[in-house]
This record gives sequence, C-alpha cells and structure tokens, in this order.
Amino acid sequence: MKIDLSGKSALITGGGRGIGREIAFKLASAGCDVAICDIDATTAEATAKDLEATGIKSIGIAANVADAASVEAMFKTFIEKFGKMDILVNNAGITRDGLVMRMKEEDWDAVLTVNLKSAFLCCREAARPMMKARSGTIISIASIVGLMGNAGQANYAAAKAGMIGLTKTLAKEFSSRNITVNAVAPGFIKTAMTDKLTDDDRAKLTNAIPLERLGYPDDIANAVLFLASPMASYITGHVLSVNGGLYM
Ligand code: NAP
Repeated sequence: MKIDLSGKSALITGGGRGIGREIAFKLASAGCDVAICDIDATTAEATAKDLEATGIKSIGIAANVADAASVEAMFKTFIEKFGKMDILVNNAGITRDGLVMRMKEEDWDAVLTVNLKSAFLCCREAARPMMKARSGTIISIASIVGLMGNAGQANYAAAKAGMIGLTKTLAKEFSSRNITVNAVAPGFIKTAMTDKLTDDDRAKLTNAIPLERLGYPDDIANAVLFLASPMASYITGHVLSVNGGLYM
C-alpha cells in the first residue's frame, strides 16, 4: 500500500535540520503540506522553500517551542495558512550533557523546557483544532535514553522519559476524539547531535548495536511516516523504538 497524505497538513518542530528536516521531506513525499518550525527564521524559511520545490504547500515559522506565547502565535499562523491541523511532530530538542554532580541547574532547566515543556505546549495548542475536526495524530520524538537511561544525560533522559508519560496520558485523554498520540524513540542517529561524540565513543557504540551501525535520519522519518499514515490508525499510546536493537 502506497502511503498518500495529500490534503493533509503537518507541523514539524525543529524541522530546519537533522531528523526534523528528514521527517518534513518524508511527509512531503507522501503529498502532505508541511510547516517548518525552527528557532532560527532563516533556517525555517529556507527549508520551507526547499519543500515547496517538491510541489507541496509549505511555510517556515520562526518560533521558540519553549515559550508559551511563541507556540500560541505559531499555531495561529499555521491555522491561518492551512485551515486545519492533521499531524503534529514534536521533534525540537537540545542536549546539555554532564554528570549530575557537575550539572548546572540552568542546564537541567533548559533541557526540560525545550524537550518536554515544549511538547506539552504544542500538544495543548494542537488539541483544539484536532478535537474540533475529531481527527488528528501527534508524534513525539523521544529517545532510547528515556527508556534505558544514560550516564551524563540525567536532564535529557528525564525529559525524554517525561515525553513518553505525556504521550501515554494524551493518548488516553484524546482517544474519544479520534486523535492518536504516539512516540518514536530513536537510538543513536547520525546528526549534528551525535557529531559531538568522539571517534572512540562512536566505535564503542557501534560495537554495542546489534545492527552494527548508527541510524540515519531516514530510519526515523520512515517510522514517523508510518505512524502518521492511515496504516497506523489503530495504534495509540505506543513508543516505537528505532535503535538497531541497542535496547529491546
Ligand atoms: P539537531 O540536529 O540538533 O536539530 C534540532 C532542531 O531543533 C534544530 O533545527 C534546532 O534549531 C531546533 N530547535 C532547538 N531548540 C529549539 C527551540 N527552542 N524552538 C524551536 N526549535 C528548536 O537534532 P536531531 O539530532 O535532529 O534531533 C531531533 C530530535 O530527535 C530531538 O528531539 C532529539 O532529542 C531526538 N533524538 C535524536 C537522536 C540522535 O541520535 N540524533 C537520538 C534520539 C533522539 P537550530 O538548528 O536553529 O538551533
């Protein structure tokens, strides 16, 4: 079955690069109209321009997903352009790694706010148009680290575990309105985020992965496309691990 999302509209947070950009192009390849949210206006607009060249409708929206007023304005702009929201992908995220003994309070707060509070703010805004339409799908990009923990990432692991709790709760709260809420938990994926790893750490990691490679953004985009498609219409509250077998 070929996935056809024509006539649908999606908002991808942090869609200007990395996994978010790949998700945007994957949904566009199925005919979905896509808005790109990025904290940087130039990146958001440039990505939207590239997406429009594929034949879909797209806009770039500069927004800080950690800020309630900015998120509210972003949804207003989205609805003005597309009239409805079918798909929300909570993808924006940051890391501020360090062992807990040395972790600064500001690094804890930044990661919890950008990675977790943002998903709450965006889901709360998306609920209104989706409930009105009695349909919609929300997909949040969590992490393997939220499932298994990782030394040096207490803030990030807590945020991603929180995102999984939020996903399951909203799946229950929104189900009566035919809105599905799921998460994708990537393993270690080749992006700017993992470029920070030393060669030695990357080699150790690769050895520990049963499929013997880091993931590609495309691996995550494929999972999101599936969850956004009618093929997944009976799946809600699920966490789909895409990690090469690193955590089972
Ligand atoms: P990335 O390359 O660093 O991209 C993150 C994107 O989020 C960027 O476009 C960034 O914008 C945007 N962003 C950051 N803070 C924002 C804010 N406050 N408001 C709006 N946008 C903001 O990261 P990635 O590797 O693609 O990761 C994407 C998601 O997957 C994240 O949630 C991450 O935690 C998750 N994930 C990644 C991996 C991995 O191995 N890479 C593994 C598991 C989970 P700017 O570029 O303009 O700053």
